[in-house]
Amino acid sequence: MRILLDNISIIPMSESNSFIEKGYLLIEDAFIKELGTGKAPEGVFDRIIDGENQVLLPGFINAHTHAAMTLLRGYADDLPLMEWLENKIWPLEAKLTPEDIYWGTMLAIVEMIKSGTTTFNDMYFCMDEVARAVALSGMRAVLARGMVGVGPESEQAIENSRELIGKWQGQADGRISFRLGPHAPYTCPPAYLERVMQLSDELQAGIHIHVAETRVEYEDILKQYGKTPVSHLESLGLFQGRQVLAAHCVHLNEEEIGILHQYQVGVAHNPESNMKLASGIAPVPRMLESGIAVALGTDGASSNNNMDMLQEMRSSAFLHKVNTMNPTVLPAYQALEMATANGAISLGMGNELGRLEPGYRADMIIMNLKEAHMIPRYDLLANIVYSAQASDVNSVIIDGKIVMENREIKTFDEQEVLAKARETARRLVGK
Ligand SMILES: [Zn+2]
Repeated sequence: MRILLDNISIIPMSESNSFIEKGYLLIEDAFIKELGTGKAPEGVFDRIIDGENQVLLPGFINAHTHAAMTLLRGYADDLPLMEWLENKIWPLEAKLTPEDIYWGTMLAIVEMIKSGTTTFNDMYFCMDEVARAVALSGMRAVLARGMVGVGPESEQAIENSRELIGKWQGQADGRISFRLGPHAPYTCPPAYLERVMQLSDELQAGIHIHVAETRVEYEDILKQYGKTPVSHLESLGLFQGRQVLAAHCVHLNEEEIGILHQYQVGVAHNPESNMKLASGIAPVPRMLESGIAVALGTDGASSNNNMDMLQEMRSSAFLHKVNTMNPTVLPAYQALEMATANGAISLGMGNELGRLEPGYRADMIIMNLKEAHMIPRYDLLANIVYSAQASDVNSVIIDGKIVMENREIKTFDEQEVLAKARETARRLVGK
């Protein structure tokens, strides 16, 4: 299959940072074959897409989420974290069946595709259903079964993770990969993390973990182990020789920023979730300055309350500007880099995703430049980061396949998903 995108502006996010005002990009099967400025090469193509008044850029990488939590969107808001979790979220989650998780994930996938996300890094449960949704929808995902190291489920989480990795690693033409998902240092004691590390080495699987999300966690871990969360995990050897993605990293000291950089730990910044739950402000400018490829995530839709990476980019830029009282902090290009290239690097996929370069996987989005809020066009980057809306995402290509064209999802029936999700939510709250 050869697809030619012609007559289009391109933001490749490549190392050379070469913006193409009018050019072409050729996809061959799942990969980018070539791109350039000016006229496209002659040849035989299965599809030619005219990109007049549109821009092509890498698909967004949502580096930390819990997709099926879309079912809990707007169910509980404006509460303190522990009260929110213990009285609202956990009791409702306990009612979720595998089928519910499937439809909740599909709902998230509709929202993600329609707002330009092509890869998501997920931690949840019933991950067979999540993998099934990813396989069917044409999305790309890194999945982890959430593991809590205390209580009766802890043993099962280990066995279940082993099975899932055996079954799904590299499936759906390589669009699915699996990691281990120890929930957080405060829910996974050292002995349990020890076992997770053994399994990670045995199965050659990376790790996805929440770290230093709240001030309370920071202080509790310090009290319990005499070390702050990142230092605590380092002393256990968690970062040694394996790919780790740490979500949040809100509360860090300087030494810990050094540790994250030293071990090339991926960091997923979730500004909207951190603001909504009043968790704090992650030292993102400091992390970026020290060389950490900080990525962006939405977190679950119950603490955001959407999966829109365009909004996440804008929020991250604004948050760090006002926090440092410096408008030059986190400029548009850097925010876009966090949502694309850094997302790939943070997941150990920096050589295949997050940029438009020959040899990279063909994951990309085409955005419309026709609406009023995108005019005039002095600075396309500023328009994308500060003005664009999800509805400007016109078409989405993942692994060389057109998953959405002219806002119409091609791989499954969107209306069925919306109906099933509504029905599931009604049943969950007994209405
Ligand atoms: Zn989370």
